[in-house]
Amino acid sequence: MAENYEPVIGLEIHCQLSTQTKMFCSCALSFGDEPNTHTCPICLGHPGSLPFTNAEAVHFALMIGMALECEIAPRSIFHRKNYFYPDLPKGYQISQYDIPLATNGRLGDVRIHRVHLEEDAAKLLHGGSSGRIHDAGESTVDFNRGGTPLVEIVTEPDIRSPAEAAEWGRLLRATLKRLGVSDVNMDEGSLRIDANVSVRPAGETTLGTKAELKNMNSFRFLEQGITAEIARQESILQRGGEVEQETLHFDPQTRELSSLRSKEYAHDYRYFPEPDLVPIVPTEQMLSRAREALPELPAARAQRFESDLGLPEETAKLLAFRSELGDYFEAALAADSADARTLANWVRNELVQRLGDSDPAESKITPEALARLVGMVEAKSVSQSNAKEVLAVLVDEGGDPAQIVEERGMSMAGDDELESIVSRAIEADPEAVEQIKAGNQKAIGALMGAVMRETKGRADGKEVQRLIRERIGG
Ligand code: ADP
Ligand code: ZN
Ligand code: MG
Repeated sequence: MAENYEPVIGLEIHCQLSTQTKMFCSCALSFGDEPNTHTCPICLGHPGSLPFTNAEAVHFALMIGMALECEIAPRSIFHRKNYFYPDLPKGYQISQYDIPLATNGRLGDVRIHRVHLEEDAAKLLHGGSSGRIHDAGESTVDFNRGGTPLVEIVTEPDIRSPAEAAEWGRLLRATLKRLGVSDVNMDEGSLRIDANVSVRPAGETTLGTKAELKNMNSFRFLEQGITAEIARQESILQRGGEVEQETLHFDPQTRELSSLRSKEYAHDYRYFPEPDLVPIVPTEQMLSRAREALPELPAARAQRFESDLGLPEETAKLLAFRSELGDYFEAALAADSADARTLANWVRNELVQRLGDSDPAESKITPEALARLVGMVEAKSVSQSNAKEVLAVLVDEGGDPAQIVEERGMSMAGDDELESIVSRAIEADPEAVEQIKAGNQKAIGALMGAVMRETKGRADGKEVQRLIRERIGG
């Protein structure tokens, strides 16, 4: 019989900070600029150049540490992590090692092991990938990215499924975005996630040997990669084999995992304290400045949407984790007296369906207009289906919903008008009436269809049904 296995997952996240300048020099940060236009002797590792720590990066890292409920180290230091690679001109990366900036935190159900500051490597362009400078088969280096401030966040191995990893990753991304410390763009590599995965027989408490999946650049790939890795490890264990500790690459196209290298260990890097930088010793002033800069975070906002506004959990999370939707929703709520749940549904369903991933604040429909439209639906002055058409117009052209309803003759049919339309429909279809009287409830659909056609959607379905039943006593 096949054994039951429990997956164990821990994540390591690299987040590029959107500071003005690099981590240890005054070069401006850039993305997509002409290669090697943002460099200096410091980030190119010239002899005799001396690094200095970017205060804005420290401020952002403190904010992240606090948002993740960490203990902030009263004194943390930088180390040199030594290795050779063409994207690393100094031959070492300046990072933090045994005394990181922040430790022992939590976000949602996942404990945070540590948060530390480091610098990014430069960018290698392989044959043809830049479309210029070099021929296929050659590789070149763009040092613009080298020295970009990074925060690395390491979780405890608290995650138990691929879906949970993706969901937690989304929460972290929303949190970093809300903090305003990074543009968290996974396509452009400003948020990069490595997943450490192991499996163990259900009930076992010690950890199995893990493999590390590098640099997953979307949450969908993260979930797929972890799923594939769990299956791979389970089949090894089922055959009585042993999982090897190694670093893997997941190819989302083929869904295959390939080995990048066998696992390296900390001692391989010859870490030693960076002699050219002073320790980070946050003053009271630095700490309170970071604390005061913290906005309401997505997890707390979702909680508030649930408990104060009565939104269902899933809707609350969806709006809170996409801060721009949450902002839009709250602006609409403040603008009109529309019911919070109804308004939230319009934002998450109709609006998101039309706008996709883009920010509704940048569209033509104002929060006030949406709130007014939803208010009109609630007051039954426009039908649900016509309101969706009005929404489409507002998204394309902007404007005032009441005026659009008026201009397009979409106002609800009045009582008298509706009653006479219902009478006519009943007279026109005696067969349906017979069937309804005989207990065939489906036949009412034919009459309702006729009424809705006649009113061009300017009627409330429930009201029409009520009137029909009242008339024929079915
Ligand atoms: P390493 O020394 O190999 O870098 P760490 O102990 O620093 O390992 O952990 C790195 C990441 O791997 C952390 O996110 C941690 O939670 C996770 N991790 C550690 N051991 C395991 C394991 N056995 N299974 C899954 N994840 C693990
Ligand atoms: Zn520089
Ligand atoms: Mg580690």
